[in-house]
Amino acid sequence: MEIEYVKAKTLKEKPAWDQNLGFGKYFTDYMFTMDWTVEKGWHNAKIEPYAPICMDPAAMVLHYAQETFEGLKAYKTKDGRILLFRPEMNARRFANSNRRLCMEVLPEDMFVEAIEKLVAYESDWIPTAEGTSLYIRPFMFANEAAVGVHPSNAYKFVIILSPVGAYYPEGVNPVKIFVEDEYVRATKGGTGFTKCGGNYAASIAAQVKAEKLGYTQVLWLDGVERKYVEEVGTMNVMFKIDGKIVTAPCDGTVLPGVTRDSIIHLLKSWGYEVEERHLAIDDLMEAGKTGHLEEAFGTGTAAVISPVGELNYKGEIVTINNFKTGELTQKLYDTLTGIQWGNVEDNFGWTRVVKK
Ligand SMILES: *Cc1c(COP(=O)(O)O)cnc(C)c1O
Repeated sequence: MEIEYVKAKTLKEKPAWDQNLGFGKYFTDYMFTMDWTVEKGWHNAKIEPYAPICMDPAAMVLHYAQETFEGLKAYKTKDGRILLFRPEMNARRFANSNRRLCMEVLPEDMFVEAIEKLVAYESDWIPTAEGTSLYIRPFMFANEAAVGVHPSNAYKFVIILSPVGAYYPEGVNPVKIFVEDEYVRATKGGTGFTKCGGNYAASIAAQVKAEKLGYTQVLWLDGVERKYVEEVGTMNVMFKIDGKIVTAPCDGTVLPGVTRDSIIHLLKSWGYEVEERHLAIDDLMEAGKTGHLEEAFGTGTAAVISPVGELNYKGEIVTINNFKTGELTQKLYDTLTGIQWGNVEDNFGWTRVVKK
């Protein structure tokens, strides 16, 4: 891929890495941009100063929401190497999302190369304090100026970068989850398996409702019967019941998380039985009340692992593991973050070194 480098006139002042970086608050000096049109295909690849994107008010994304995105992180190891974690999985998922939304599919090798080039160019922006990383947000949107529903004949692919703080500055902490029995996120035949902005737009009402009630996120049930457990707001979710791990299958309505897949591999390598199956919310609550539900946790790039300490379903409350982080949950967190930051040996070949 031929990339044009456009220099910034001035560079931003970087925040202190050990301060509260938060999530998605700071953005780096440069972004990657590339255009696609029917006539030219992919062209105009640039690493240019981070700046507002100029677009026509009739740009189709603003009307019909043809937009997809990804999320992954770059990590700096103690010996100064830069690691990505399974970026080829994000590349494949991005292609699947785009296919479903009838958007142009970005070749997977170009997706990974664009990330590597931008991260290498901005490597000074990868924070080094304990638990920090550089969040990578690739996205694509319909850029044709036309009001009328059809697949756009122009797209823009962009990557922005954001240094992010430790998710758990005071150690891993359980969260309270509200089981949503009114709104739904996805149904078979819909876009549940894609990372598209529209899925999130539709989910915000439930998130607002949960927050008002004092809960961090919602647990989604299936869109037809509102009977089976699917996933948490921005995470897949797993339950340890009688020593076995149960999680929803990726059969169209659940987002196939990279963290989910990695956790399943780790668990199996440790000899755990993992069941990818439909789990009824009634059975889950019953397991919680009778002491069979031993641990519960969400999995996703931002938090990696997020222990669930409480579930509220129709006003009935179940507390899990006395609202403490479970032993297995903690071990999974330590192992996976250890691999990602280069402190634990990567026996799976998951990490990818970025050449500077
Ligand atoms: C991104 C996302 C996840 C987690 O995926 P990871 O690849 O592990 O970050 C889970 N559920 C939803 C709805 C998501 O958007």
